[in-house]
This record gives sequence, structure tokens and C-alpha cells, in this order.
Amino acid sequence: MRDFAHEIEQRKQAGLYRTRRLVSGPQQPELIADGKSLLSFCSNDYLGLANHPRNIDALTNALPETGLGGAASHLVCGHHQSHHQLEQRLAAFTQRSAALFFSTGYMANLGVISALAGRGDTIFSDRLNHASIIDGCILSRARARRYAHGDVAALAAMLAETSGHKLVVTDGVFSMDGDVAPLKDLARVCKAHDALLVVDDAHGIGVLGPQGRGSVLAAGLSEDEVPVLIGTLGKAVGTSGAFVAGPAVLMDYLVQKARTYIYTTAMPPALAAATCASLDLIEADDPRRQHLSELIVHFRAGAEQLGYHLMPSQSPIQPILVGGNQETLALSQALEQQGVLVTAIRPPTVPEGQARLRVTLSAVHSFEQVDRLLNALAQSRALLPGSDYQKTVAV
Ligand code: PMP
Repeated sequence: MRDFAHEIEQRKQAGLYRTRRLVSGPQQPELIADGKSLLSFCSNDYLGLANHPRNIDALTNALPETGLGGAASHLVCGHHQSHHQLEQRLAAFTQRSAALFFSTGYMANLGVISALAGRGDTIFSDRLNHASIIDGCILSRARARRYAHGDVAALAAMLAETSGHKLVVTDGVFSMDGDVAPLKDLARVCKAHDALLVVDDAHGIGVLGPQGRGSVLAAGLSEDEVPVLIGTLGKAVGTSGAFVAGPAVLMDYLVQKARTYIYTTAMPPALAAATCASLDLIEADDPRRQHLSELIVHFRAGAEQLGYHLMPSQSPIQPILVGGNQETLALSQALEQQGVLVTAIRPPTVPEGQARLRVTLSAVHSFEQVDRLLNALAQSRALLPGSDYQKTVAV
């Protein structure tokens, strides 16, 4: 048998060993993890809706009517009217013709990409796209080409030299850097080269754009310009699952072809009802988004003053670039000793030499809590010797 224990040991030596924490109680900034009370800056619950009483009520009120389990796949007998209502709600929310409800964002990306591209086609993917997009490209058996992060000119040159069906895929907000894709330019170039544009807005839905409708509408782009929009529901929406939204004919095609939609049990219908409730809150609650953007400004000013290297992100994802794996782990541990939880993100999730602390802010954080994080960062600054740290800044 292959020496798995040895491979695990090697990972430990390289500072790449991954662990899980045991969380008890609900997801909220004051988190109980491994029995300790920690102030968390790790979750993707950007609006604090994962634990909102109205969403919890919507779930429990729906349960007696829908039962618990999905019990069958959508195409057999699992497509409940709660799923149907959510799809209509998602289409209206994203201002698109139709939507399709998937079980997770990971499965949506796998299913959509492998349904829309196949052998003989070419997929163009931003170098920093999420792992589920990369896996979707592999699964599709299409030729996959990566373009430099956000480099629309490089993409245009690649598109110009390619014939046949072309698919361009990008994160809307990049999950590990927090920056927004140049969506307007991408849409223009895709139109010029007859390529189908797919945007995975996992981190933009709920947070960006008018009433939280996401990065595509924030950029003023229509369904015609961005035909395929993917969003997850387990982040700012605070529930679980994902969706694809776009022209009705495309949704119909995905029902025929997307294997991760067809060959899996439908999500619990009550969860769809809770998601509708959460979308109501998102549309109505601009003060939540306003508070979140004020926290982002406050955090950035404080961390930059301490000499930490931030990335050009205006989103709730605010990574602190450190560089080395061990240094990043040491910084994360130092924060934890002060009661603050920020996860170290290391390769292969991010490029080699660009390990970082991924700080995520939420509308349910207070200014006082962000100050606690800044104080802990101030206490730990000595862990990053000035000159070495400056070198990583140039990465
Ligand atoms: N796309 C992106 C950009 C993501 O960051 C993630 C989750 N980290 C996903 C897709 C997967 O979504 P889900 O968690 O719903 O599977």
C-alpha cells in the first residue's frame, strides 16, 4: 500500500497539514471552536444571515408542510414546489429569465462547465479561479487554457487565435484575494470573439450591487452580456445550496445535461423556503451592507497603519499577505492565543510563496470587535521581521 502516513508527515514538515476545528453552537462572530470561545474572522456569512431568527423561523415553519428530506432527485419526483418558488425568486432577484437550484456551488460549477463545454471546445479560465471551476474544466474534457489574473488583453489574444466553441469562466469576486473581476471588459471581449461568459459570483451575491444583487448587476451588465451567472447560497445568503441563472433555454439545457443536477438528491425543500426568506432580508437591508462597508474601510486603515500588506480588495474578503507557510501559521496561532480566529491559507489554495491570513468581515461584526482584531495584529506584528516581510510585498 502507498505510504499515506509518510505523505501526511511530509505535509506537516512543509507547514501544509490541514486540520478541522470542532465548532459547537451557531455560526456567529463569537464562535465556540474546539471548546474555546474565539472571535472569528473566518466565515463567509458576510451579512450575518446564517443565524438570523427570520430565516430560522422560515425553515421551522416550512418543515411540517414539506417534511425533511428531498427524498429523490429533481428529475424523478424530488422537485418540490418550494424548489420551484425559490428558482422563480432567484430569477427575479438576479433580474434574469430563469434559474436552477443546485445542491452546492461546487456542484453547480462542475455541472454547468461540463455541460456547456466538451471535447473539441476550449475553456478560458482566470488563473485565480476557484478550485470547483478548475475541476469543472477537467471534468468537461474540453481544452482548458488559463489566462493571467484579470488580464483581459491576454484573454482577447488567446480568444483571437482559437476557433470552435469558446467558454470564458471567472469568479465575480475572487475568493482568496477579494478583488472583483473586470466584468465589463470581459463581457466586451467575449461578445467580440463569440465566447460564452460564465461568472461565478459566490462572494458577490448579497454583498455587491444594488440591493445585494451581485457583481454582474453592480457592473450594469445584462443577461445578454453575461449569459451564465452562478451564485452560492451558503455564503452571504446564509443558508445552503447554489444556483445558476440565465436564459430559459440554457436552464432547460442544463436540466438535460448537468450531471451534478441530475444524479443527486434534491435539497430539503424547507431549506429552499428559508432561502426565499433570506433573499427578502437581503433585498430590504441596505443598512447591513452599509455597516459592512464601513467595517471594511476601518479594518483596512488600521491594518495598513500597522504595516501589514493588504490586497487591493474592497470586498469583505481582506487577506493579509504574509508569504511563507510557517510564518503564516505562526501569525494565525499568535492571534488565536489572543482569542482571535483567522485561518492561514496556504498552497495549493493560493500560489506558492503567497500564503496569507484570510480575514473576512461580516455585517454582524461591531467596530469594537474589529478593533480587537487590530489590537491582536498589533501585538503580533513582531512575528514578521520588517525587511523579509517587505520582500513578500513585492510578490
Ligand atoms: N465558487 C467560489 C468562488 C467559492 O469560493 C466557493 C466556496 N468556497 C464555491 C464556488 C463553492 O461553493 P459551495 O461552498 O456552495 O460549494
